[in-house]
Amino acid sequence: MTDPTEVDVVVIGGGPAGSTLATLVAMQGHRVLVLEKERFPRYQIGESLLPSTIHGVCRLTGVADELAAAGFPKKRGGTFRWGATPEPWTFAFSHSRQMAEPVSFAYQVERSKFDEILLRNAGRNGAQVREECAVIDVVEDGEGRVAGVRYTDAENREQEVRAAFVVDASGNKSRVHQRVGGKRWYSDFFRSIALFGYFEGGKRMPAPNTGNILCVAFTSGWFWYIPLSDTLTSVGAVVRREMAAKIQGDPEQAMAALIEECPMISEYLAPATRVTTGQYGRLRVRKDYSYLQTKFWRPGLVLVGDAACFIDPVFSSGVHLATYSALLAARSINSILGGIVGEEQALAEFEARYRREYGLFYEFLTSFYDMHRDDKSYFWQAKKVTGNSGPELEAFVELIGGVSSGEAALLDADTVAKRLRTNTEELTAAVDAVVTGGDETMEPLMKPGFVRDALAEGMVLEMRAMLGDVGAPDRPRVAGGLVASPDGMFWIPSPQE
Ligand code: FAD
Repeated sequence: MTDPTEVDVVVIGGGPAGSTLATLVAMQGHRVLVLEKERFPRYQIGESLLPSTIHGVCRLTGVADELAAAGFPKKRGGTFRWGATPEPWTFAFSHSRQMAEPVSFAYQVERSKFDEILLRNAGRNGAQVREECAVIDVVEDGEGRVAGVRYTDAENREQEVRAAFVVDASGNKSRVHQRVGGKRWYSDFFRSIALFGYFEGGKRMPAPNTGNILCVAFTSGWFWYIPLSDTLTSVGAVVRREMAAKIQGDPEQAMAALIEECPMISEYLAPATRVTTGQYGRLRVRKDYSYLQTKFWRPGLVLVGDAACFIDPVFSSGVHLATYSALLAARSINSILGGIVGEEQALAEFEARYRREYGLFYEFLTSFYDMHRDDKSYFWQAKKVTGNSGPELEAFVELIGGVSSGEAALLDADTVAKRLRTNTEELTAAVDAVVTGGDETMEPLMKPGFVRDALAEGMVLEMRAMLGDVGAPDRPRVAGGLVASPDGMFWIPSPQE
């Protein structure tokens, strides 16, 4: 098959962000080319998902049923040994009738399988998918607009393809994002390092929490423990950045020492052996992974998923942000290509909503880290000190001082978040149940109203995806802002404007 020389949209990267965007734009009949550097299936971290991805966005892309048939363990919530309470506590996505099956769970996924299902679905929906094609750079039109990309194909030949839009969904490692201009801001607060590997035969929590993510705080940081099958477990330690040299010097020894330092994880791994072959055969390290681009788009170029931003993994927000941002960007591109809305307005809407979502998680996670008060621990003390230096959002804005678009959008996000609290009583009650699961030990989590807001919006998205036109209509998030069309595929002017 020859590669096209001109399409409507080129998507760089076939991870969850890229394949979601490609699917939603190809579904509207546009010509979409996905260029993916690797051949799938390929390894990726980020295995614990949120319900809004699988019941919301994946329902819109038509892949939810295939995911349901894939046999991924069901994640009904999270179990945390965290904060002042010595006993682990559990939150369920739903103990309420409003959130009864089928949307009260997410999956724990082997990303090699999950990402491949999403990418093949993009192909089935009309996107051309080219693997082993690495984008080298974007191509400009001489008037400040990105007009295509240069890449090497599977035979190592250099190719060029022109497009009305280039979407950078190439994750955190690629450099394409630099072409959008602005900077990548790295969070000092979440300046951590993660060391992770895989184990066979680890202990499981009792039903109904068997598939939950387990997060355990200890002196040096916290562990995730994610069941990927009856026997396979993903285990990772997130520790302070200053331990990087030790961890990178001898990861095996560092992992063994960290496990020993954490009694609960030691106990869970007592019957287990570490996987030493195949895609899970080695320990991996990731650092400096919480960041935010100061610009998300420029004419002809849009960043989605990790290419744009990422926030600490404790609440499994990465794939949610990737797929949600892809949905927002797809709406913008569909609207521009369909002649419904101009580029400036459509992409401003995408950016405002994406920044808002990121801001919600950022603020939430900052509070969440503050719940662990152990003055003797460098890891927690460092976070506490940073967290106490002022209101989180304000501190955040100061840190990215001088970047006006980022500041405005984040502050705006806060206002919008407050406005969202006027949701219907039933929705609020349902969200309360999602957060607390009726468990009083979750009370501190309820203090930040934005937790409720974030979940409320996720639920609205799920409802709309499941019910189509019957679901709650979208509302503008800013004065004069756009709203999602009833089918979720476009932006349209708000009927109230
Ligand atoms: P990716 O999944 O990275 O996909 C990008 C794709 O682009 C890749 O396939 C890559 O091969 C391709 N590519 C790169 N460069 C090029 C190029 N030049 N040309 C063509 N293709 C290219 N998220 C969760 O939801 N739950 C979790 O539990 C979770 N845990 C995490 C733990 C850690 C330690 C870290 C660091 C992250 C975690 N995440 C988690 C986040 C998650 O990994 C990411 O947010 C998610 O993978 C982002 O998806 P994406 O599609 O944006 O990028």
